[in-house]
Amino acid sequence: MGQIFIPTAETFPNTADAVVIGGGIVGVATAFWLSRAGLDTVLVERRDGLSTLTTPESIESFRAQFTEPAMSELAVAGIEMFEHLADLISMPGYDIGIKHQGYLFVTADADMVDDVRAAVEKHHALGVTDSEFLTGDEARACFPYLSASVVAASFRQRDGWLSSHEATQGFAKGCDARFLVRTEATRVLRDAHGVCGVETDRGVIAARVVVNAAGPFAGQVGRTLGLDLPLEAVRRQKVFLSQQPLVPQDAPLTIDLVRDAYWRPETGGAYIAWVDPDEPVAEHPSENPPTDPYFAAIVLEKLIESTPFWEEVAMNLKKADVHPSAGYYVYTPDDQPLIGPMEDVPGFYLNCGYWAGVMLAPAAGQRVADLVTGALKPEENPLRPSRYEEGIVVEGNSFLRGRH
Ligand SMILES: Cc1cc2nc3c(=O)[nH]c(=O)nc-3n(C[C@H](O)[C@H](O)[C@H](O)COP(=O)(O)OP(=O)(O)OC[C@H]3O[C@@H](n4cnc5c(N)ncnc54)[C@H](O)[C@@H]3O)c2cc1C
Repeated sequence: MGQIFIPTAETFPNTADAVVIGGGIVGVATAFWLSRAGLDTVLVERRDGLSTLTTPESIESFRAQFTEPAMSELAVAGIEMFEHLADLISMPGYDIGIKHQGYLFVTADADMVDDVRAAVEKHHALGVTDSEFLTGDEARACFPYLSASVVAASFRQRDGWLSSHEATQGFAKGCDARFLVRTEATRVLRDAHGVCGVETDRGVIAARVVVNAAGPFAGQVGRTLGLDLPLEAVRRQKVFLSQQPLVPQDAPLTIDLVRDAYWRPETGGAYIAWVDPDEPVAEHPSENPPTDPYFAAIVLEKLIESTPFWEEVAMNLKKADVHPSAGYYVYTPDDQPLIGPMEDVPGFYLNCGYWAGVMLAPAAGQRVADLVTGALKPEENPLRPSRYEEGIVVEGNSFLRGRH
C-alpha cells in the first residue's frame, strides 16, 4: 500500500527509479502507474496533503463528449478506470461516489445548432456512440426545467461526476509508491546523460526519471531546467450553493453554451460556475487565487436564460449558503495536455497543461508509465510535447474549454 508521510532525515529517500513532482490527481495517478510498472517511485508534494490544490477545486465531473481524438481517447479510458477503480487499485468496495447523471450542453442560439449536431457526430465518429443530439423540445421533454429558448442540446447519460479527492487517495493507496508531503521540489537536476534527480527542500533524490505534474506550477518546475514550456494558467472560479431545494438533485451537469455558464446538483445544493473568456493569463499563479465578490451573482444571471428556476434561487439566496472558490485551468497552444518525454532532457517527462485534468488523469498517468517503460513508443503518443514543432497537432473544438 502506498505510504503518505512527512519525511524525516531517516525516512527521506535518497534515490528512486522515478520521482513525480506534484500530488494532485495527475501526479498521483502517474505515480500509481509507474509503481505498478515496477519502478521504485517517489512523489513529492509541497503542501500538507495530496489533492489539496487544483484537484479539489474542480467540480469533479467527467465526460466522454470530446471532439479532439486524443482527448476523447484519454477520457474514455479514464472513465472506464474510474468505473472500476476498486478493482484497479485492488481495494474491494473502495467508493469514489460515481454518479452517472450525464452532461447536458444546451444552446439558445439557432446559429449553434449545427455546431452541436456536428459535435455529436464527431463523438460518434470517435467511438463514443451514446451521446445524443436533442432538439429543444426533446431536451425539455427530458429536462422540463429548461427554458423555451433552448433550441438544441447534446447529452450523454454515462457522463457524470465523482469524488476527485477519494479517487486521488485511492490511486495513492493502491500502489507501492512513497508520497512525501510538505516536500518541495526546488530544482530538477541534470548531468551529461539527462535528468539525474530532484533537489528538494529536504535533500536530493537521485533518479533517472522525473515527471513534472506540478499543475499550475509546471511552468515554474520546467524553468529550473531552463525550459520555457507552452503553458498558460488562467484562474477559474466556482461557487457551491448549499441547501437549494429548487435544484433538481437528479439533474445532469447542465452547460449553457452561449454563456459558458454551468451548474450541477451537489449534496442538496449545487455547484455553479462560469468560464470567463476574458479572464487574463496569470503570469504568477497563486496558491490561493482570490474569488470575486460578485461572481455568484454574475453566474446566476447567466444561468437564468436557459434554466429559469435560478431566478427564484437568486431572489432567496442567503449569504451563508454561498461558498466561492478558485483554481486554475492550464492551457497549451492546442488546449490539450503535454504528456511525455522532453527530448532535449532525457528522462524528463511532462504530464501537465490540463483544463480537464481530473477526468483525464487516470489514462494520462498510464500513458506516462507506458512511455517510461517503453510499452508505448513516443510516436504512438499524439500528445507528445514535440507535436507543435512536428506540426502534428489535431485541433478540436470541445465545448467548455473557455477559449474560442
Ligand atoms: C473551477 C474549476 C472547475 C473544474 N472542473 C473540472 C471538472 O469538472 N472535471 C475535470 O476533469 N477537471 C476540472 N477542472 C480542472 C482540474 O481541476 C485540473 O485540471 C486538475 O485538478 C489538475 O490536476 P493536477 O494534478 O495537474 O494539478 P493540482 O491538483 O494543482 O496538483 C499539482 C500539485 O503540484 C504541487 N506542486 C507544485 N509545484 C511543486 C513543487 N515545486 N514541489 C512539490 N509540489 C509541487 C502543488 O502543490 C499541487 O498539489 C476544474 C478546475 C477548476 C479551477
